[in-house]
Amino acid sequence: MSITSPNLNSYPAASPASGTYSWHQREQALLASYATFSRHNVQRTYSETLHPTRGPFERDRDRVLHSAAFRRLSGKMQVFTGEMGDYHRTRLTHTFEVASIARTIGRALRLNEDLIEALALLHDIGHPPFGHCGEDVLNECLHAAGGFSHNKFALTLVEELETRYSSYTGLNLTDTVLNAQRFRVAKDPAHIPCLEVQVVDAADSIAYNAHDVDDALKLGLIGWQALRTIDIVKMAESRARQNSLAPIPADRQRPALVHALIDLQVQDFIRTATERLETCDGLDSQAVRDIGVRISLSEIVALQRRQLEVFLFDRVYRHPRLIEVRTQAAQQLRTLFELFQKHPERMPLRFQERAARTSLQQGVGEYLAGMTDRFCRDQYQAMVHLGQESAAEW
Ligand code: MG
Repeated sequence: MSITSPNLNSYPAASPASGTYSWHQREQALLASYATFSRHNVQRTYSETLHPTRGPFERDRDRVLHSAAFRRLSGKMQVFTGEMGDYHRTRLTHTFEVASIARTIGRALRLNEDLIEALALLHDIGHPPFGHCGEDVLNECLHAAGGFSHNKFALTLVEELETRYSSYTGLNLTDTVLNAQRFRVAKDPAHIPCLEVQVVDAADSIAYNAHDVDDALKLGLIGWQALRTIDIVKMAESRARQNSLAPIPADRQRPALVHALIDLQVQDFIRTATERLETCDGLDSQAVRDIGVRISLSEIVALQRRQLEVFLFDRVYRHPRLIEVRTQAAQQLRTLFELFQKHPERMPLRFQERAARTSLQQGVGEYLAGMTDRFCRDQYQAMVHLGQESAAEW
């Protein structure tokens, strides 16, 4: 492993003939002083030559996008499983919604959109099958081995388990992106992350609150009458009506509400953050962290949003239909964890090797955590009901 500093005088130059700007000139022209500039954040575990047209964070984003773990997000549930229909969000579509919202906010605040996109695509990559239920089960199973968290597993994936490049194992992401993920693992409330990380975290909750309302309405888990007791819903509906050229037909009310819910929060966040950053002009990314700058929704919208979150928690996340799905998923994961511990030879060779290098529990946990929901169910059926050998690679 080599840790080296790139030659900071060797940025790829612009091409005057074609009139294009290189990535560092583009950042210089467009970003606010407190954005995270690529030129200060090019450190990687394995030294690499700077790319002439793609900045360091663009390369990070593309490495995450092309990783196998990222593609598997299409088979991992967000809140609702595949058996419940094809309309609702998967972990992958949620991730794209987060990236889209975060980029909108980041562009308005003149932050580094490439970094924002890389962080957004990475933010849920470590989720095991069956969402937070799967995470709780693995955390319990791996208790003696230090527990399990999707944030920590994201690091394991991008640093150790992804094998795309001939020169190294992992994706060799910049330290900036890896440190942002380490911050998620540490969960230290005293740590102030860079503004781009704060934007992605805000976009995550804006996205899931809005799309969980959409999916739960579509699935019939909640009704309009109960939903319309929530202040932020009333506000969003009123805004949707004002912005519509004609009365909103019944079948368009759900999408109209979701659009308005997102837009209302995004605009509030941008307005509040812009006010907060007014006095920060001239300060760099580290300086705004040093003085403790946090950007957020306004107090009033944050309070209204909290009311919606409590509603979703009571009426959706604890809905009997979801509890039934979670109970079954938890039982299958626990059984597979026990089975693979008894028969590690049924795991692919590379997980047998990881189990030998770390611990049996760790190796089994990592194998299970990488599975999609369907793959996990298939493994369960094959091993428990059919008594088949496994050793299938995900
Ligand atoms: Mg998320």
